[in-house]
Parts: sequence; C-alpha cells; structure tokens
Amino acid sequence: MRPRLSIFSASLVLALNVSDLDFVMTMTAARYGPPEQALAAMDILANIRIPAVRDAHWLFYAFSSRQPHSLHFARKRQRQGIPMSLKFAAGDLTIHRIVEDEGLFLPALDMLPGLTPELLAENRAWMKAAGALDDSDTLILAFQSYIVKTPHHTILIDSCIGNDKPRPGRPSWNMKTDDNYLRGLAAAGFSVGDIDYVMCTHLHVDHVGWNTRLENGRWVPTFPNARYVFDKGEFDYWTETNAKAEVPPFVDSVLPVVEAKRADLVGNDFVIGDHVRILPTPGHTPGHVAFSFGRGKDDAVFAGDLMHSPIQTHYPELSAKFDVDQAQAAKTRRGFLERYCDTDTLCCPAHFPSPTVGKIKRKGNGFVCETV
Ligand SMILES: [Zn+2]
Repeated sequence: MRPRLSIFSASLVLALNVSDLDFVMTMTAARYGPPEQALAAMDILANIRIPAVRDAHWLFYAFSSRQPHSLHFARKRQRQGIPMSLKFAAGDLTIHRIVEDEGLFLPALDMLPGLTPELLAENRAWMKAAGALDDSDTLILAFQSYIVKTPHHTILIDSCIGNDKPRPGRPSWNMKTDDNYLRGLAAAGFSVGDIDYVMCTHLHVDHVGWNTRLENGRWVPTFPNARYVFDKGEFDYWTETNAKAEVPPFVDSVLPVVEAKRADLVGNDFVIGDHVRILPTPGHTPGHVAFSFGRGKDDAVFAGDLMHSPIQTHYPELSAKFDVDQAQAAKTRRGFLERYCDTDTLCCPAHFPSPTVGKIKRKGNGFVCETV
C-alpha cells in the first residue's frame, strides 16, 4: 500500500470511527485495483451510508493527480450501461484488452477534417450513447494493447504509450510514471516474461511506448523473451523520416529493440504457424498493417489505426488528420470494412472506446462495428 493512501485511510478510520479493515481494503482496490475490481469497489464506496465517508472518498479522487482518466470514463460507461469487457474468445483464441488510458482526445471536428458540423449533429446522439463523444463534442479514445493467446503463443499487439518518455507535445504522456499498464498486464494474468511476440501495427508514438523501459539510464526491451515484429516498409519509412529530423518514439522505443537484436523486420508474407498473418493496410502510415489471427480463417483481426472512432465505420471516407495519406487511408478503410462485413471475424481496433471490439455489419452506405 502506498504511504499517502495509508495515511489517508488511517485518518479516515480514526476520525470517523470506521474500524473496518474491509473499508481500507476497498479503498485500496478502488484506487489501485484493475478496472473491473476498481469499479466494483467504487460502487461499494458510493453506497456507504455515512455521507462524510462517501464524500471524502470522492474528494480523494478529485484531488489525486494520479487518478487515471480511464476509471472516470469506466465509471461513466457503467452508469450508461456500456459493458467494460476486457476479455474475449474467438475460435481457439483468448483475447485480452490491456487499457493504459481512456479519455478525451481531440475535438471531433479537429480530428476528422472531413466531418462537417451538420454530419456531427446527425450522429451526436448515438456517438454519445456509445461513449465515443462527450458533451463538448470531443472524441473519447482508448489507448490499449491486445494480448492474444493462441494454442502455441502469447502475442502482444501494439504497446501503447510507455513510461519515462519525453513527449512534450502531450503533457499527460510526457515523462509519465503511472503503473496502469503493468497493473493491467498483471490483472490479466501476464508478466512481461510471458510475451513471445510483440507486434506493432505501425510505429506511431502510442503504439510502441512499452516496447522499451528505462533501466539504469538505458532503454531496454520491456518484454525480455519476445521477438518484436515490425513491418519492413514501415521501419524504412521511419528510418528515413528520423534521418531528416529526429523522431523521439522511434529513437527510444524502436531502435533500442533493433540494437538488442530482438526485432524481426518482416514482409507481408510473414506468418506465425497457421494462426497469424499480416494484412497490409496502408494510408494511416505507409507501412501500416493489420494482423489477422485464427487457424485457417480470420477469427479476429487487429486493425490498429486504420480507424480511430466508430463514426468512421459509418462514413469510411472520414480520414483522421494523422493519416499520412488521407485518400489512401479512406480507400483502405472501406476495403477493410467490406472484407469483414457480415463475417464472424471479431474486429479489434486500437482506439475505439470500451468495449472496443465488435463485428462489422452493413449500415446504409457504410458499416457499423456491433459490440459482442
Ligand atoms: Zn497511429
């Protein structure tokens, strides 16, 4: 237990004469537990009949700088009745979501340059109900990894934001030191040593962060037993870009893995046994790839950033401002949605808000990712 929490809890117990160890344990779970456990604990606390205790609990959250946004949104979703599932089955695969953060990202009209105020107005209601848009028209995004257990391997897809990394452009990512990610990993039952492969859909800052961690002032691979799979075309693109002007996430989260001889630079013919394949999906970045999993057929597909928000399934032509080639991204997006439309494949995008995953169905001239 952390000192600040112990002192706080102890003083509450003394001051309010709540001589109940369960209360302290529940506080700890709410504050530091994995999301599902934390939500259950927060419900217990919210129902405490002594108003002072209940309010003190919320004050504690309000003033705590380490409180992850994800819990706030998880709680809001729970009130809305949106499931917070972190574990899914597809064929002989087990899929876990490891959520590092979930919360407000950018105004929808800024993030999606093709979105008009009129189109946003038409879609506002369902977007809000899905927990993908807040009251100020800001998009809500999740930042998460997937861990897939195949009968033979444990494979981590996209490694999120990472700790201790200089990211001055985004204060909440800059030099952060929280334990959300490693706690999420442990809550799902994994240690860093369990991961056989780390696979990156592309090499953007929020997809490579936990590739490395800081050890004695050096960046070392976080997952000591893993081979790291990068698309060769994507790697070459960032090598060139980095030569013109330094790209910090490439330098601190990709190159150290290559230097440690843990990286495999692969082409589109890359497979792992009969379970894992690459699907080229260029546009967001030139070498962006999706990964399809399943014996002989696609039981699940990991789509990375070929779409960021559910509104892009309805209107595949809406590219994000971060898409390097917006026209190509739109074409790739529609092709991908068409390919998986009305199939049994579980579609797992990187950033859709919880519960994130679903199956692609046709809707008008577009599609919808229906939660399962
Ligand atoms: Zn990206």
